[in-house]
Amino acid sequence: MKKTLILIVLFILSTNLFSQTNSNNFSMEKAVHYLASEELQGRSPSTKGDSLAVDFITDLFVKAKLKPLYKTYYQEVVFKDMESIARNSKQAGPKNKFSRNVVGLLEGNDPALKNEYIVIGAHFDHLGLGSMMSASRSKEPNQIHYGADDNASGVALMLDLVNKFSQKINQRSIIFIAFTCEENGLIGSKQFLEELPFDSKQIVAMFNFDMVGMLKNNSLTVGGTKTSKESEKIIKKYSKANNLKVSLSPSGVGPSDHASFYAKNIPVFYFTTGADSTYHTPYDNPHRLNYKGIDIVSKFAFDISNDVVNRKDRLRFKRVKEPKNSGDRPTFKVTLGIMPDVTGSTDGVKAEIVSKGKPADKAGMQNGDIIIELNGKKVTDIYSYMNILGTLKENEAYKVKIKREGKTKELKVKL
Ligand SMILES: [Zn+2]
Repeated sequence: MKKTLILIVLFILSTNLFSQTNSNNFSMEKAVHYLASEELQGRSPSTKGDSLAVDFITDLFVKAKLKPLYKTYYQEVVFKDMESIARNSKQAGPKNKFSRNVVGLLEGNDPALKNEYIVIGAHFDHLGLGSMMSASRSKEPNQIHYGADDNASGVALMLDLVNKFSQKINQRSIIFIAFTCEENGLIGSKQFLEELPFDSKQIVAMFNFDMVGMLKNNSLTVGGTKTSKESEKIIKKYSKANNLKVSLSPSGVGPSDHASFYAKNIPVFYFTTGADSTYHTPYDNPHRLNYKGIDIVSKFAFDISNDVVNRKDRLRFKRVKEPKNSGDRPTFKVTLGIMPDVTGSTDGVKAEIVSKGKPADKAGMQNGDIIIELNGKKVTDIYSYMNILGTLKENEAYKVKIKREGKTKELKVKL
């Protein structure tokens, strides 16, 4: 009796130990809470928080037995410290500063296909204390911008995929990468492609996760859906299987690292659950995220990437005809001063945030208003909105038709 009891206890202990080492004790929720903690101070490149984030990610790569792509897991990334100029106007030029991309390789099993790569990435940098040169939308100085949704959520999801893929056999090779310096111009991803140790033609597809922590009503956006002949069909198949409502955004151009890959003729998949009013403010903290939602998005992303990693023929790249005036970082002469809802879950364009003091605000527009007409022309989605906006002139007044709580209203906005 005693012996069996001891055996049972030993058995439970050993299975527990086994399951712990097997899963690395990893949870996306814990990862977000750490990356977006007080201690990491908003992960501004070249700070202590940046190094701590790099250590955290490396640790998981090592546990999952990823191989370093270079001599180490690190690629040094150089960027210009624009703030040093702002602080010292006598200085001749901006100083060089350094951060690192963290890059790990999981080799494929098929002798031929292992020379083809799928890149799975997410940027880990954020705005630090949101100083004057950064893209902070906050007016209070020196507050930690935790960057929980942007983009601790995407890094957590990428690490979850590291665990999922490293426990199975894959035909093609997978490169997992945490990019630095996304917020100051996609610098990390551009440099990754410039210093690639193999031909960029060997990259079959790139998956980018940026702001995936706010799933609402099971709907999210996938960008780049027309950057290969096969993408849309694959996405539709797995959105159905996962019971998700997915807005398809055809273009491979966009404000995150996948754009660097699309520029090199690589099919891209950009996952996002969209921005809300906490975007680029100190209020983007870990307590606001939907962790069950991240699980759902991760399962969906795994299904799609697993298909692309293991399918017989590689995806066939397609360049998307861009709507007029769209670009990497669109520069419009005129702006209404709203942040549109990028999930595209409504007809028209929803103003997720109306910026104080900007034309839309002055015209009386409120957060949540849906723009359905601009200058007498119908606004159906973000593309028609941008197209119309591109035809408007500064200092002129235009009619804007909006929907607020089901009622239609007309405003006059002066640009
Ligand atoms: Zn981001």
